[in-house]
Amino acid sequence: MRKAVFFDRDGVINIDYGFVGKIENYDLVQGVPQALHHLKELGFLLVLVTNQSGIARGKYTEADFFKVTQFLQENLRIADACFDGIYFCPHHPEAPLAQYRQDCECRKPKPGMFKKAAIDLDIDLSQSIMVGDHATDLIAAKNAGISKLYLVGEHIKTEKELIEGCFCYQDLSEMVQNLEIEKK
Ligand SMILES: [Mg+2]
Ligand SMILES: [Zn+2]
Repeated sequence: MRKAVFFDRDGVINIDYGFVGKIENYDLVQGVPQALHHLKELGFLLVLVTNQSGIARGKYTEADFFKVTQFLQENLRIADACFDGIYFCPHHPEAPLAQYRQDCECRKPKPGMFKKAAIDLDIDLSQSIMVGDHATDLIAAKNAGISKLYLVGEHIKTEKELIEGCFCYQDLSEMVQNLEIEKK
């Protein structure tokens, strides 16, 4: 079995402008490719788990999401920092688009995407890590059996009140630097 780092996407990997569905407004957070590459070198699989209710809300399509995903992976390939697995939830319980309207098992804080990844990629969740920018990301990970929880990004102050026992860092780069210090 492998260990993995799970990531939320918007606000962790790219700047969260709200419902990012197009390449035109897909901007990586500074230092992300290097940080991901470093985690890969430490032996972690890199897995993205992202709620994309923008699809259910009709703000962009699944095809748009796949285009952004391809763009992301191409940018990361240069740094040898590609994701090993990408999981997304296109649903919302009150979606205007009927085909996406459901109370699914994948939308975080439910642990569906983590459980699927664990099966697909033979991941030991108890040895894995979660990095998110909202408490719901970490609650989902906790629900899946992940105990090492990291909160990064601009919402740290308010979100950390909502979850117990997580580490807080400004961004992914700072988190990875401190992971190194923890090891020494
Ligand atoms: Mg987010
Ligand atoms: Zn879902």
